[in-house]
Amino acid sequence: MSSICELKFVFKSYYDGVDKKLSVLENINLKIKEQSQTVITGASGSGKSTLLYLLGGLDAADRGEIYFHSKKIDGKKLCRWRSQFLGFVFQFHYLLPDFSALENICLAGMISQPNSVKIKQQARELLDFMNLSQRENHKPFQLSGGEQQRVAIARALINSPQLILADEPTGNLDSKASEQVFELLQKICKEKKSSLVLVTHNRDLVQKFSLRYNLSSGCLKKTSSLSQKN
Ligand code: ADP
Ligand code: MG
Repeated sequence: MSSICELKFVFKSYYDGVDKKLSVLENINLKIKEQSQTVITGASGSGKSTLLYLLGGLDAADRGEIYFHSKKIDGKKLCRWRSQFLGFVFQFHYLLPDFSALENICLAGMISQPNSVKIKQQARELLDFMNLSQRENHKPFQLSGGEQQRVAIARALINSPQLILADEPTGNLDSKASEQVFELLQKICKEKKSSLVLVTHNRDLVQKFSLRYNLSSGCLKKTSSLSQKN
C-alpha cells in the first residue's frame, strides 16, 4: 500500500511568546499508509495535536520533509489536497458559532462539491447516525459539549475523506457514545477505504488499534504493530 502522508526527520518547535524556543517534536518519522488505522497516545502537552496538524498539512515543520501522496505539496495545491482528501476532527470542535449544526456540516462539503442538495442529504444522514436529527437547526451554543463534538465529527466526514485525523474525538463523550463514534469512524473507513489516525487517552479505544504509537519527550515510539485487523 502506498502512503497518504509521511513525515521524515521532522522537527517542530514553538516560541514561548518572548524569546525561548520550545522544542516539541524531534526527528519524527511516520508513514500513514492507505487504509490503515493508527492510534497515538501521549501525555498532555507532548505534541500530539502538533503532530496531527503536520500530518494534515495544517502547519509547517521547522525541519524535515512532509509528503502527501508521496509528493511535496504546498500553497494552493496543499489547500486543494486538504479539501479533497482530509477530514480533521479538532480537539476543540471549532464549529462556526453563527451557523446551525446542519450548516456547519454542509459548509465543509460545499467547498469541494457544488451539489448542495446532495450535500444536505449527506449531512442529514450523518446527523441521523450521530443521533442528532433533532438538533439540525441548533447553533453550537445550544448544543452540549458532546453534541458539539459529534457535529464536528460529522463535518469531518462529509467529504468522505481518504484520511481522517481525529484529535481526541471522544474526549467529551461518555463510554457508550465513544464506542458509537469509533464504530462510525470504522464504518466510514471501511466503506470509503479511508485511513484513520486517532489521538486518544481512552484505553478501551487504544486496544482496538493494531498500530499504536506513543509520543514522549518529542519522540514517537511504536508500541505495538500487530497485523491490522481491519
Ligand atoms: P498535546 O496535543 O499533546 O496536548 P500540543 O501539540 O497541543 O500537545 O502542544 C505541545 C506543546 O507545544 C505544549 O507544551 C504547548 O504548550 C505548546 N504549544 C502548542 N501550540 C503552541 C503555539 N501556537 N505557541 C506556543 N506553544 C505552543
Ligand atoms: Mg492536543
